[in-house]
Amino acid sequence: MLKISKVKNAYKEIEDVLGPDFISDKDFMKAAYSRNVDPAFPDRWADIIVKPETTEEVSHIVKVANKYKIHMVPRGGGADLVGGSVSKGGILLDLTRMNQIHEINLDDYYCIVGCGITWGAMLSELQKKGMTTGILGPGSGYSATIGGGLSNATVGFSSTKYGLVPDICLGVEVVLPNPEGTIVRTGAAANQYATPFCRYGVAPDFTGLFMGDVGTMGIKCKAFLRLFPDPPFKSRRYYMLLKDDYNKVFQLGHKLRKEVGDGLNDLMVTPLILPTLLYAQANNKPKRMPKVTGPIFSVTLEATDQRILDVYLEIVDKIMLKDDTTRPFEWQEIDLDMVLSKDWKFTLIEEFNFFQKYISTAPPKSSCTTCHKVAISRLNESVQKGVQFNINNSKEFPPKNPPYPVFASFLMFLPNGNCVIVGGLGGDNTDENREATMNIWHKKIRHQVRYGGAHYWLGESISQSIVEAGAYTPEFMQFFKDMKKAVDPNYLLSPNKFHLYSYDHDYTEHLVED
Ligand SMILES: Cc1cc2nc3c(=O)[nH]c(=O)nc-3n(C[C@H](O)[C@H](O)[C@H](O)COP(=O)(O)OP(=O)(O)OC[C@H]3O[C@@H](n4cnc5c(N)ncnc54)[C@H](O)[C@@H]3O)c2cc1C
Repeated sequence: MLKISKVKNAYKEIEDVLGPDFISDKDFMKAAYSRNVDPAFPDRWADIIVKPETTEEVSHIVKVANKYKIHMVPRGGGADLVGGSVSKGGILLDLTRMNQIHEINLDDYYCIVGCGITWGAMLSELQKKGMTTGILGPGSGYSATIGGGLSNATVGFSSTKYGLVPDICLGVEVVLPNPEGTIVRTGAAANQYATPFCRYGVAPDFTGLFMGDVGTMGIKCKAFLRLFPDPPFKSRRYYMLLKDDYNKVFQLGHKLRKEVGDGLNDLMVTPLILPTLLYAQANNKPKRMPKVTGPIFSVTLEATDQRILDVYLEIVDKIMLKDDTTRPFEWQEIDLDMVLSKDWKFTLIEEFNFFQKYISTAPPKSSCTTCHKVAISRLNESVQKGVQFNINNSKEFPPKNPPYPVFASFLMFLPNGNCVIVGGLGGDNTDENREATMNIWHKKIRHQVRYGGAHYWLGESISQSIVEAGAYTPEFMQFFKDMKKAVDPNYLLSPNKFHLYSYDHDYTEHLVED
């Protein structure tokens, strides 16, 4: 009863500032916001949905939430895969009205945007000016937001060259979830006389506190992002390995990184199984399926001049065709509707479709994602360990769910020694199979954490699994809890993530020995 009156009072006090159009507790709204793209989770209904437009409105909501001790979860595009942007009870903040482009500064190469702006809206404006943020957002598409990308430490298109979304972040304007709803700016903008042109040198890097935090440390309202002139000359080439050999994948990937350097925009590797699945689904099949014997490299290059691009292409051919272990490949060998690499042109739409086609090879099945980064020198070992896990634990998978990825895993190379292994387990969104699905999903993540994998979107299921695996030392966990308490003394923001329910909660009760 008390709870209902608390929620009612909070509703009224938020409505007084936001107006009646941007707050709701109607069932149809709660249902509409009850899910992300996270199949193993049940529907979860928030008590109140709010759509603030300004940082000051977010601050007001936070103050009210603290007054009534109601928990909050921030949400951008809602394309999370791991239970991150839904809330059971409490206040769900839909930030998509914070979608303004405040400044595009072509002299100093930065832009200031509202964190609820989508990648699509932002990139379309930047493209008109020949500019780019480098990384072009996640594979979920252009309706995901910048705030989601920063919070999930998103990897995406062009990450091989430009890194993760936090790598292009110069600073943020963020509302701390404390009773005062404090608004702070980080990076150079922490100096109130400066423009946000750089991240370091004014104060400790407090920007980092909010990067990859999956919405636990603050509500990001504005982002200050790096800009780059978009190199106008781009090309893509494909090569097939003749053997299914991930040591060779590592060697070639390493060499491409070293010798092509700045020209290498994206480097992806699709596994052996994928062409077979795509051939089965193609509308316009060649008469015969070609012999596919190994993973396929997709190499995207960019340059400021056609002549430089030609040199890059020459170097790539030299590396990839040096011995008889690789051959040039065309996706037309699988599907006649695919574009030949010589005719390939970069467009935002094409990038998105390409990704969707590659990962959605088994669309009717839902997937519990297990995407994570590994050091590239440990690529082969990590791939083998993943396969072995599925074999060893096949009996624990829910009935009728195959113990192999439902979307084919593939690799994306990142700057330095990083490589992403994209993948997911077959999941079931039925009440009878939910527990088994969740159990095997958490177990698989714990396994990856223990061989040294680093994930990116952590949401609920992955952040909890990392804690369960015992990855964090007691000292780290104490530091984390203290930092959380400093920004969120009532532990109201995203309380389920990392099993951070309250300052006094004993996280060790969640440790699992497998
Ligand atoms: C088909 C598919 C492909 C995908 N591919 C990729 C991929 O290639 N790379 C990748 O990284 N991810 C990928 N994802 C996952 C997800 O879409 C991305 O991580 C994306 O960046 C999330 O953005 P969003 O705006 O939808 O965030 P949401 O889902 O709304 O939120 C994500 C997390 O961030 C928090 N959050 C959101 N906005 C804020 C804010 N302003 N302040 C504080 N916290 C906030 C939320 O609480 C939540 O924990 C994919 C998802 C799907 C469905």
